[in-house]
Amino acid sequence: MRKEALFYTRLENKRVQCNLCPHRCILANGKMGICRVRKNVDGKLLALNYGWISSCSFDPVEKKPLYHFYPGQPVLSIGSVGCNLRCRFCQNDTISQTGVEGYNGLTRADPTQVADLALSRSNNIGVAYTYNEPLVGFEFMMDVAVEVHRRGAKNVLVTNGFIEPEPLDQLLAVTDAFSIDLKGFTEAFYRQYTSSSLAPVKKTLERIVASGRHLEVVHLIIPKANDNPVDFQRMVSWIRTTLGRETVLHLSRYFPCYQMTTPATPVSTIEAFAAIAREKLDYVYCGNVPNSTGQDTLCPVCNHRLIRRNGYSTGLTGLGPGAVCQRCGHKIPVIMP
Ligand code: SF4
Repeated sequence: MRKEALFYTRLENKRVQCNLCPHRCILANGKMGICRVRKNVDGKLLALNYGWISSCSFDPVEKKPLYHFYPGQPVLSIGSVGCNLRCRFCQNDTISQTGVEGYNGLTRADPTQVADLALSRSNNIGVAYTYNEPLVGFEFMMDVAVEVHRRGAKNVLVTNGFIEPEPLDQLLAVTDAFSIDLKGFTEAFYRQYTSSSLAPVKKTLERIVASGRHLEVVHLIIPKANDNPVDFQRMVSWIRTTLGRETVLHLSRYFPCYQMTTPATPVSTIEAFAAIAREKLDYVYCGNVPNSTGQDTLCPVCNHRLIRRNGYSTGLTGLGPGAVCQRCGHKIPVIMP
């Protein structure tokens, strides 16, 4: 299935410029963008991955990860192929670092089918766009999101945040919650390990906060790549001053993937960085760390345990109606079922 892409400019000699993400690819006739799913065909930019699904599953919302958005509820999660980044540590490279013709497991779907499937399970909150980079499937994602909202359900976007402001503003109109990767806090890291840049991601985060949409930030800590404590402290300070001290931050443990062979992040590193982050932020979680209490939500005022998590099992043990701490009454930024 192919569809004409949004956000592009026609140039002379049948060339086009894609304006969806900050790469701003200029494509001669017949050429493909960096994301491998947007192609110039006779002077028209086509979205080749429109309606192609690589993965579809009812996941716990905690798996996105979102810890403060309908905790304990499932969300229908869909992915396609393609990505505008080249992360050397990608955990989904079989679908993200390929195009439609390079992946055998694709199935077709239209937006109403996806939205109907989401509504077929009574406690499902809506649809999450995830697995590969959903932004490079902008047109299909938007069409599904409109159908999902029409049915009164929620849209969740799990993304690298590398997008231009104009398409982002359209997404903000239909997206209820964002899980955004902040992969590092230096331009050098973004350039060397992801072939992209940090500044547009920071702008995306600021725009989401200004919109009032729910946001959680994910930071993967990779030994010898982005585990400099000084850079990390700068990142945490920026999050606090620019996004707010109640910003949810997930620190995630890296494991060797794709082009990276560096051994996994020591648990002690995750715990040490979490301690640094908690000095400035109220809600900091440790991901990919077995048996860690760093996944629980504690009240930042009285330290009462509010939400207990064990793997993907979630218990709202200490939260009262209206998402307040049952012990001290502090209002917690959790969107409840
Ligand atoms: S979305 Fe794809 S084609 Fe468009 S600018 Fe980004 S990488 Fe290039």
